[in-house]
Amino acid sequence: MIYLTADVHSEIKGNWEQKKARNSELDSAKRYLEILKKYKIRSTLFVNGICLEKHPSKIETLLKFDTELGGHTYNNFGNMNIFKSYINRKLFGCVYGSKNFQKKDIFKTKKTFERFGLKMKCWRTHAFASNDETFKILKSAGVTHVSDLLGEQKPFEREGIIHMPINIPVDQNTIAYGMLRPENRDPFASCTKGRIKPEEWFEILKKRVAENEKKKIPSVLLIHPLTMETLDNFRLFERIAKFLSKYKSGKITEFKV
Ligand SMILES: [Zn+2]
Repeated sequence: MIYLTADVHSEIKGNWEQKKARNSELDSAKRYLEILKKYKIRSTLFVNGICLEKHPSKIETLLKFDTELGGHTYNNFGNMNIFKSYINRKLFGCVYGSKNFQKKDIFKTKKTFERFGLKMKCWRTHAFASNDETFKILKSAGVTHVSDLLGEQKPFEREGIIHMPINIPVDQNTIAYGMLRPENRDPFASCTKGRIKPEEWFEILKKRVAENEKKKIPSVLLIHPLTMETLDNFRLFERIAKFLSKYKSGKITEFKV
């Protein structure tokens, strides 16, 4: 069983992928879903609340596909810089910041779903920047499933939340593309670690998904639409989709422990 997820943002300051693709991540997400439709793969998109607020017609388009939307913070924590991120980590143990900020942000995001007639039942914090407080707030906001942890773990339930850790290497954190220059990548980002060629990543992905299937562990994947577009205009993604179509796929909130 595979659970393919994607993160879709409004705008990230200094994101070179966004500059290169020159279009909205919502447009990239549409092309991503068109490929998934061709291979009959179901998915979950974690979307910034501001996208639902500012681009309702684009959201309507995405909802025509066999996908579900989950929350991904309102707007990537607002104005975040290296200093603030350091302070947040130091004071609150996570980049998402204080309990109050998180609460406001989560409920603000939830509201953007409600205006749309949607329930925000699943969630991933941008940059996986949660702490235990985040999960408590999410539960109080009616979220049932969180896909926020990284590592080789099976889904599990804790304090009323079903966690679905990403157990296949994430595209952005793993693959190298283009020239690695300071202006391309923030030297403080985890993305600069473990860089391998896209083909090598695809081989690892195939091996890991096959292994999980053998062990009957669901594979939870995060593959970004914008990254796939910037890399090679979705050519590799099409091959990934073809490979994944061999397996049964589901949406995050359908998983039961
Ligand atoms: Zn994100």
